[in-house]
Amino acid sequence: MPNQKPEPTLPPTADAPSEKIKGQPQLLRGMKDILPADQPYWDAVASIVDKTATGAGFARIETPVLEAASLFTRSVGQETDIVEKEMYVFVDKSGDRVALRPELTAAAARAYLEHGMISWPQPVKLWYLGPFFRHDRPQAGRFRQFWQFGLEVLGDGHPVIDAMLIYLAVSIYRTLNVPVEVQINSLGDRACRPGYVRQLTDYFKTRKHQLCEDCKRRLQRNPLRIFDCKVTDCYTISQDAPQIVDHLCEACKDHFVHTLEYLGELEVSYTLNPRIVRGLDYYTRTVFEIVEEGGSEASTQSALCGGGRYDDLLEQLGSRQVPAAGLAGGVERLIIKMHERQFAPTVVSPDLFLAQLGEPGRKKCLKLYDVLRSMGVKVVEAFSKDGLKPQLEVANRLGVKYALIIGQKEIMDDTVLIRDMENGIQEVVDFKKVVPEVQKRLAKSTTNGQPTPAPGP
Ligand SMILES: [Zn+2]
Ligand SMILES: [Zn+2]
Repeated sequence: MPNQKPEPTLPPTADAPSEKIKGQPQLLRGMKDILPADQPYWDAVASIVDKTATGAGFARIETPVLEAASLFTRSVGQETDIVEKEMYVFVDKSGDRVALRPELTAAAARAYLEHGMISWPQPVKLWYLGPFFRHDRPQAGRFRQFWQFGLEVLGDGHPVIDAMLIYLAVSIYRTLNVPVEVQINSLGDRACRPGYVRQLTDYFKTRKHQLCEDCKRRLQRNPLRIFDCKVTDCYTISQDAPQIVDHLCEACKDHFVHTLEYLGELEVSYTLNPRIVRGLDYYTRTVFEIVEEGGSEASTQSALCGGGRYDDLLEQLGSRQVPAAGLAGGVERLIIKMHERQFAPTVVSPDLFLAQLGEPGRKKCLKLYDVLRSMGVKVVEAFSKDGLKPQLEVANRLGVKYALIIGQKEIMDDTVLIRDMENGIQEVVDFKKVVPEVQKRLAKSTTNGQPTPAPGP
């Protein structure tokens, strides 16, 4: 029975205390470093999102972090918290008013129009993963630079698109060990929403004195946003407010009913939640949030993922009407949940360690290093170290299967010593035969071997 393989040791996480030196540079408030120990979780998210999206026919899009500020004021909405309070906006050296992107949908819509995707076969399905910026109040799992993954489907208004998007997001969370539930609502469209908003305004007007200051303002500009308010009085009042699902026009009702039917066929369970209005102006018809199963009631604060249909957005940006829908999920909060749910990401360990003694050994190892690497062997070393002991300590820490050792004796005999790091058994091999021998051993160990789970958080 071989010895237990040592767990590869990774550097400490961001939470490890460190000595502060006066005048030392520090992270900006609300910013975060992603250190090596957490990287396997990020890699797992990136890989699952890529596999899920690509497998479903989505192509990746990357847009610049910096865009014209007007793109977001025209699309996300001048009156929203994102644009009004949270967006990083500044005038650059050319005098242009620019913004760090607070979300991707507007940029995807811009790219769709700018690159003539409107004449591609429709729908155009795009996915993304990248950093976004909001000057928000920092709190657990919320940062001012935060990462989101997302899916966008442009050029198709069929309700099956809405259901497919939700289904794909749910499947991403399930694969990452985070059970979720879907909360869904419809916001109607320009045919039926204005009438509803008038009724809603009338309802809140008679209770205006009980609303918080923010909601009094919302009542003027966008009364739907009162449903988002966390203040107890506002919450209580809004519970008896008229609900939009009772005021949908026939076309919106039909769209909503079909979306729910398709979710049923896909075996995605959902809850109707009239409070889901999302904080952005561009949504029409379906809106949804995906929250952790058994978590508290959906809110913008606790949702892992949110999205919906935005059939009027491209028209707002100057195009003809192009129906579209999308979703975005936060990566930082997802990774917190993956830790809580004991998700074990795979860590790729190196295969081989090259150890050397003496200058001729070091030089011969450099040659062998190049040969092994070009064969695709994952080979690590500590060529700057002199003694064998410190080198084998590194090999142990990295969790390699074998160490190849070239010392003075091996230089004289033109051999290499192969050491099995699990059981310490060493074997002398002719230098000329070392490459096929390594290949043979590694082929054997990959067929027996299981991926190594990463060390716990
Ligand atoms: Zn309020
Ligand atoms: Zn409608």
